[in-house]
Amino acid sequence: MADVKLQDVRKNFSGLEVIHGVDLQVESGEFCVFVGPSGCGKSTLLRMIAGLEETSSGRISIGPRDVTHVDPAKRGVAMVFQSYALYPHMTVRDNMGFGLKMGGAPKDEVKRKVDEAARVLKLDAFMDRKPKALSGGQRQRVAIGRAIVRGPDVFLFDEPLSNLDAELRVEMRIELARLHRDIGATMIYVTHDQVEAMTLADKIVVLRSGRVEQVGGPMELYQDPANRFVAGFIGSPA
Ligand code: ADP
Ligand code: MG
Repeated sequence: MADVKLQDVRKNFSGLEVIHGVDLQVESGEFCVFVGPSGCGKSTLLRMIAGLEETSSGRISIGPRDVTHVDPAKRGVAMVFQSYALYPHMTVRDNMGFGLKMGGAPKDEVKRKVDEAARVLKLDAFMDRKPKALSGGQRQRVAIGRAIVRGPDVFLFDEPLSNLDAELRVEMRIELARLHRDIGATMIYVTHDQVEAMTLADKIVVLRSGRVEQVGGPMELYQDPANRFVAGFIGSPA
């Protein structure tokens, strides 16, 4: 577990600034949700925290460490994407253990961690299957399992449920809440779905055109939105 701090973080793409000086603190163990319309910069912010995208300026720290220029693999984060990106020729077990194995972890440690993640995600019965023999929800669970196995301080989710049908989304939402309770890690979760944000978040960060519009708990934003944009987005009466 670790807190995540952003200080005046900016991002340009070929001279055009798309993230305009974001200051933000995500507490250790918190479930923090970034919401906002398509193109507002949610993925870019998340990718900068992951280190998949360089910051143009500003600072990012995870726990006590300034990670602004640290390699993604050494930040203690694991990211789960909307497209699961599983290896089609590998079994569920090998998909989940691959990262650890490549990192040089001993075989018995890989097995122990994979089994533990499988139990948490109720994947025990599917460990020898290939991804094509799984449902969409099961595949997404494998992708989450792969992140759990790495034991990160911080989980980063980029719209992980947006490819699933409505019923499965509700089911996975409940599982994600349970997962957060069980493992207690810091989670930063990107979505454009207000219901997901309202039900999952300890803290919601509302983004608009590369700026933070408001930060608060779900009820706080609902009852006391800073402006009409937040009210409209959260669906509150103001
Ligand atoms: P969101 O995830 O909220 O939909 P993004 O972070 O993907 O938004 O994008 C924020 C802005 O940055 C958009 O205007 C998008 O077009 C731009 N952008 C994102 N990635 C790139 C890139 N690799 N090159 C140029 N512009 C980009
Ligand atoms: Mg995005």
